[in-house]
Amino acid sequence: MDLMEYQAKELFAKHGVPVTLGVVANTPEEAQQGAEDLGGGAVVVKAQVKAGGRGKAGGVKLAKTPQEARDRADDILGMEIKGLTVNRVLIAPAASIEDEYYFSFLLDRSNRRYLCIASVEGGVEIEEVAKTNPDAVKQIPIDPSTGVDAAKAREIAETAGFPAELLDQAATTIEQLYQVFVNEDATLVEVNPLARLAGDKLEALDGKVSLDENADFRHADHAAFEDKEAADPLEAKAKAKGLNYVKLDGQVGIIGNGAGLVMSTLDVVAYAGEAHGGVKPANFLDIGGGASAEVMANGLDVILHDPQVVAVFVNVFGGITACDAVANGIVGALDLLGDEASKPLVVRLDGNNVEEGRRILNERNHPLVTLVDTMDGAADRAAELANA
Ligand code: GDP
Ligand code: MN
Repeated sequence: MDLMEYQAKELFAKHGVPVTLGVVANTPEEAQQGAEDLGGGAVVVKAQVKAGGRGKAGGVKLAKTPQEARDRADDILGMEIKGLTVNRVLIAPAASIEDEYYFSFLLDRSNRRYLCIASVEGGVEIEEVAKTNPDAVKQIPIDPSTGVDAAKAREIAETAGFPAELLDQAATTIEQLYQVFVNEDATLVEVNPLARLAGDKLEALDGKVSLDENADFRHADHAAFEDKEAADPLEAKAKAKGLNYVKLDGQVGIIGNGAGLVMSTLDVVAYAGEAHGGVKPANFLDIGGGASAEVMANGLDVILHDPQVVAVFVNVFGGITACDAVANGIVGALDLLGDEASKPLVVRLDGNNVEEGRRILNERNHPLVTLVDTMDGAADRAAELANA
């Protein structure tokens, strides 16, 4: 999960990294109020979107007065930056910047370690610096088993080339940023600019953090960072029920067990759709290994509530969970959903105990269910129904 700048700064503050939190505003009026609450002086109005390059896109503006903060917020709110709409701005006291540094820790998967990237030539042109003057961007590998202690932090600060009078502060900040990286289970912690302000004070003026969702169970507080408005409501519902669901834009809802099977089902449906008015898969939904009635009901519940879905293709290969259990799952799900199940369902079962599974479905003889023996045949039927 990627965080917005204001959220990243909250995590920085928690670990002692020098930041100024500022005020988050959703309207120009709130921006003006925020600027007043910060003392009425000059502020910077910053678009809060999960994308870099906001400054260059016009999403970071200085404002001398609260009234100006309101005007700048009015300009920035609703703006699109790299395809993302700005719904929120951060109002922070305008800092007087003397120098801009770049600093990051990231997970270096291919080398099975962490990597620190640091440059004293930070700021909005860092990508350009990396291209034209790569020697100015230092890459320092970090062994995860030893991490970054005070001595290592100092070594990093020296390698990066921080000026002598800032070395102590830089080392302390680097150690704190490492605490953010490790203790919050982040895969990326980036500060650009880590700024030198008047009075030789170092401060993180921007922050980019990606959290490893696999570690969410260790961080109850991370749930608060989730942008609930942005998430598709069906995706949110599926996630809450532990289902692996991705919304696509076609008409055939797809439920399968196992990512490999679901992916090949997408291909088969897309291919079959070519002969039926160009219908396409409406989603990707993997119910995983256990296809109990409850899991199947949850899956069908999500898919049947997608208004774009016209027909559903349930494609299950019985393995550890045998086909009879899956068939009972489907029957149970339809009973649980009652009138809410209102779209045709094409079911293809194969594998472990398939005869019994088919017998159960045939016996129930649900008016919405069509049983088809082969995957290609079932995809064709589902596409045909979706095109009706
Ligand atoms: P980004 O473009 O998305 O990385 O957004 P940043 O937060 O890094 O802001 C872009 C640039 O705006 C920074 O590199 C700074 O030069 C400038 N900036 C950001 N905050 C302030 C501030 O408080 N005062 C001043 N003078 N400039 C700022
Ligand atoms: Mn930045």
